[in-house]
Amino acid sequence: MDFRKHLSNIPGWRTNRKLVIFESDDWGSIRTRSKFDFNSMLEKGVNVDNSNFTRFDCLESDYDLERLYNLLSKFKDRGGNHPVFTPMCVVANPDFEKISNAGFSDYFFESFEETCKRYPNSNKVVELWNKGVKENLFVPEFHGREHLNALRWMRALQEKNPGVLTSFEHQSIGGSKFKGEPIPEYLAAFDPQFEEDIEKFKQVLISGAEIFYKVLGYKPRHFVASNKPEPKELEETLSQIGVKYLIRYKLQQYPKGNGKTTKELNWLGRKNTHGQIVLTRNSGFEPSDISETDWVSTCLNDLATSFFWSKPAVISTHRVNYVSGIDQKNADSGLFALEKLLTEILRNWPDVEFVTSSSLGAIIMGEMQK
Ligand SMILES: [Zn+2]
Repeated sequence: MDFRKHLSNIPGWRTNRKLVIFESDDWGSIRTRSKFDFNSMLEKGVNVDNSNFTRFDCLESDYDLERLYNLLSKFKDRGGNHPVFTPMCVVANPDFEKISNAGFSDYFFESFEETCKRYPNSNKVVELWNKGVKENLFVPEFHGREHLNALRWMRALQEKNPGVLTSFEHQSIGGSKFKGEPIPEYLAAFDPQFEEDIEKFKQVLISGAEIFYKVLGYKPRHFVASNKPEPKELEETLSQIGVKYLIRYKLQQYPKGNGKTTKELNWLGRKNTHGQIVLTRNSGFEPSDISETDWVSTCLNDLATSFFWSKPAVISTHRVNYVSGIDQKNADSGLFALEKLLTEILRNWPDVEFVTSSSLGAIIMGEMQK
């Protein structure tokens, strides 16, 4: 028994329903462009082989989504609902060509629709996201405009950081080491280096939400920042763009820039001053991370703990587990493990209900208003 996992489940909203939520970060973002780029970056000294994210993560292909949907469609809860992913999506990526043509003086981005057109195996991804919503298999929410802090990234490029520049030449992001030395972190889109960065993040959220609406036809309702939490000041902007539910850690640290933070205790169902509801993740399923050998058992244990404390099971499971662009075997084993997990969930708890994160938020909010 993991005592800490038990403790962390005690505070906050409770339910007798066995709700299961799959929250999956990173969809829509590029990472490493291709297998070819992976090998070439590795040769030039970017240590892309040192984590599951840099080894396997890449833009999802049409094939990846079709395979995921096929798998989810095979299962149903008692109410006839398929397991459903809540992909936390970004909707833009850097425009490498424009940035390079401008001599790295300015940042430019392209909408994720443009990115998909440039990736030949991903030209139906926009259509497939919308199909996922219609069939309630894959219902996107918001992970930011791009999976990158353009301010920090541009500063690293302007300083000619070799790891960042080499990845740039390959239209890739996110390597963490170059010839064994750490590369400055820039994937946390809303982690301000300086206090004045926070104002600029507001515009990033607003323009990101506009693209999100254009692609999907609804406003984002749920938000989690990439890699590190966002400043507290952004809650108001998030509320303005439609976000009603926020992922929080139990002890959340809000960055203020210049290395300063403030802390706050959070719990499932907590309401902030903007009326937004806190959701928390209490389970993990990351089969592409080989530091854990049996993700199915670990995740089933997490679910048992959640249900013991009358909590919904909110499972964090990143896109990296389900994409095949860098390594086909990675997606094969991720989907194989997911199939096993779903089989076991339904066998152990025939009364589970598969819902999206925004449905969970709505259920909690609905009860609070009673
Ligand atoms: Zn992410």
